[in-house]
Amino acid sequence: MSAAGKILNLWTNAFLAFFYPEVCQLCRNQRASPAQGYVCTECRSRVQFIRPPFCGRCGLPFEGDISTPFECANCRGLDLAFTSARSAAVARGPVLEAIHRYKYHRALWFETFLAGLLIQEAGPELRAGSWDGIVPVPLHPGREREREFNQAARLAGRLAAATGLPVRNRLLKRRRPTRTQTLLTREQRAANVDDAFALRNGPLVEGQRLVLVDDVFTTGATTNACARVLQVGGAGAVCVWTVARGV
Ligand SMILES: [Zn+2]
Ligand SMILES: [Zn+2]
Repeated sequence: MSAAGKILNLWTNAFLAFFYPEVCQLCRNQRASPAQGYVCTECRSRVQFIRPPFCGRCGLPFEGDISTPFECANCRGLDLAFTSARSAAVARGPVLEAIHRYKYHRALWFETFLAGLLIQEAGPELRAGSWDGIVPVPLHPGREREREFNQAARLAGRLAAATGLPVRNRLLKRRRPTRTQTLLTREQRAANVDDAFALRNGPLVEGQRLVLVDDVFTTGATTNACARVLQVGGAGAVCVWTVARGV
């Protein structure tokens, strides 16, 4: 980092420390440093990490004793373009709140916490596999301007830095803005994102083993639409990693 960059960083930290003393920004009760992403140990203890058993395809966690690999009833009826989708944690409690505030209220200080969950869970698996690059789910340029950042691209960048894999930011583009998926049914979600994505850089996809990254996996409609475009473009394999998963 340049001297000017260091000074700017010091100023930024001093600024943050002034407005956000080292208090957990979720419970506002316990101590939490910037390095902890302003999320305290107690709030972190409420994170529900996704542990086996879970569906081998979509990563949906199940209760009970299942020790053999299985696919859930949802996945059996679907034509999925990704080989597997995994998430670090269940989209509830501290994780859901941090994502919501990060994404819609520009609470960027939660990025360290959220990216940390993803790196902790996805990092070892990605380092063990032979992946070629990380592809963030693109935002439509209009929406990106409005929100001023693409959370998927930022999280993908953090995961890439931690795993040493390159980010492939320019492989996919969003052709049209899609309405928010929140209130849609599973079928409506799939229709809503159908044709929403396209390849920007076709030849670079051929034979590539790619990791698609997004903040949340709900029905998988968005990630599946992206994975489909990569697969049709000739990708060797596509897996999905998200910070959180709706259950
Ligand atoms: Zn807390
Ligand atoms: Zn499944």
